[in-house]
Amino acid sequence: MLSTMQDVPLTVSRILAHGSTVHGQSQVITWTEGEPHRRTFAEIGRRAARLAHALRDELSVADEERVGTLMWNNAEHLEAYLAIPSMGAVLHTLNLRLPAEQLVWIVHHAQDRVVLVNGSLLPLLAPLLGQVPHVEHVVVVGPGDRSVLDGAPVRVHDYEELLDGRPESYDWPEIDEREAAALCYTSGTTGDPKGVLYSHRSLYLHSMQVNTAEAFALSSRDITLPVVPMFHVNAWGLPHAAFMAGASLLMPDRFLQPAPLAEMIATVRPTIGAAVPTIWQGLLAELDATQRDVACLRTVVIGGSACPPALMRGFEERHGIRVVHAWGMTETSPLGSVAHPPAGVSGDEEWDYRATQGRFPASVEARLIGPDGERLPADGRAAGELEVRGPWIAGAYYGGAQGEPLRPEDKFSPDGWLRTGDVGTITPNGFLTLTDRAKDVIKSGGEWISSVELENHLMAHPHVAEAAVVAVPDDKWGERPLATVVLNHGVSIGYEELKAFLGERVARWQLPERWAVIPAVPKTSVGKFDKKVLRKQYADGQLD
Ligand code: ADP
Repeated sequence: MLSTMQDVPLTVSRILAHGSTVHGQSQVITWTEGEPHRRTFAEIGRRAARLAHALRDELSVADEERVGTLMWNNAEHLEAYLAIPSMGAVLHTLNLRLPAEQLVWIVHHAQDRVVLVNGSLLPLLAPLLGQVPHVEHVVVVGPGDRSVLDGAPVRVHDYEELLDGRPESYDWPEIDEREAAALCYTSGTTGDPKGVLYSHRSLYLHSMQVNTAEAFALSSRDITLPVVPMFHVNAWGLPHAAFMAGASLLMPDRFLQPAPLAEMIATVRPTIGAAVPTIWQGLLAELDATQRDVACLRTVVIGGSACPPALMRGFEERHGIRVVHAWGMTETSPLGSVAHPPAGVSGDEEWDYRATQGRFPASVEARLIGPDGERLPADGRAAGELEVRGPWIAGAYYGGAQGEPLRPEDKFSPDGWLRTGDVGTITPNGFLTLTDRAKDVIKSGGEWISSVELENHLMAHPHVAEAAVVAVPDDKWGERPLATVVLNHGVSIGYEELKAFLGERVARWQLPERWAVIPAVPKTSVGKFDKKVLRKQYADGQLD
């Protein structure tokens, strides 16, 4: 028997309508080199309507058409986030740190005809335009030298001129909540990039989840600082969630270095921020050196790769900021699990819980699968590949304009769960601990060594800024760990001392024999350790 409840589609336009009216006075504050630029949610709503009119009337954007954005985190990007899906088109965020050939591949695969681009990023886009003939319109947002587009085979528009004089309301269509709203490609660490096509429903439900107390509890009393880029899994869903909750947004634009981040925190006083560990590592060093007043931050969310416990403790013990560790992927929208300890624990036990990847919300089911495809128990000991399913988890990848959705066997189980490629354990009370990505695990003589565990211990050493451990081939054991470390400025320390430090914390057979001090760990396009590069560099097991 069907229920008697109303069937109201969960759409981005409902987030837009709610945020821009009920929370019309909340603000989007975009950091600039001068005064921060402020715009209310009400203004964002009116400008989103004007943008939708411009895209439809001037650039003939059709339903389901993908519209690319090559932009930093700023108010205009939020306008695009809200307007494009609400009008029935698909927001396609482009990762501005990808190599040129991958960007071309992605723009081509998505068949973007219109691209919105920040003026400061024109030098990146201009040389690509000759290789993406279906791009007809480039809409330039904010300052930047437009002459680099001279002679390009596109029509160039100025964002503000395009919006100028257009109606400030839009009759948003009633869209099926299962329709596509946004498209984001994974960074393609293996094979071609893969497009994850989020639905209105998945974005809406995910936003509600972000706003629960078991996640980040955004409210109209918060100012949210998404340092994580809006091209990296929708800035982890924070723009939508904040607009829904009426939480103001501090947008860092292109000022992602530690010094301006510290300054914007001290000036605008956000209450919650989110980024990958490498960004927070940089900020922690800056705060240690300059002692800014950052007590406004009630929470710093760290995810995207394992958060070293030393980083968590550094923020809390030296600056009074609580770090919350979370896990997710492009395919999971990205939340994922969040590490809030259970009630009633304290001291070391609480820290142990907080260092895990956390618990899944009710809507996300998780299971562990062993090497022979068998289901493993959630007993906190059995380690296997994590598989997940839920209303904001991808069930396939975007197959392109005419193509069928792609369901590669290594990514989706026969019964439709997402294979995450992450290896770990789950306790009976639901806490996930990841030991590694499947491809990063070090298989030494039939035993597995967790690179993450070695890294976390090494990064707790006072002289170590960063540590990345990778597998290198070994005649006797198959693979052995190679530890690369970045030392803090001005210190020198021998491998033997680091090895002794590690020796007090892990079993002897796990200790790396091979070491290298390097100037910086190579990073991926979203700021994570790029172990692929390290592995290639040390492929023969020898040090330089
Ligand atoms: P990419 O593959 O380019 O890094 P994603 O951002 O989708 O793109 O990465 C998702 C992966 O990042 C996860 O599968 C996992 O390996 C890793 N990851 C994310 N959060 C964490 C975390 N808290 N701890 C450990 N690994 C994490």
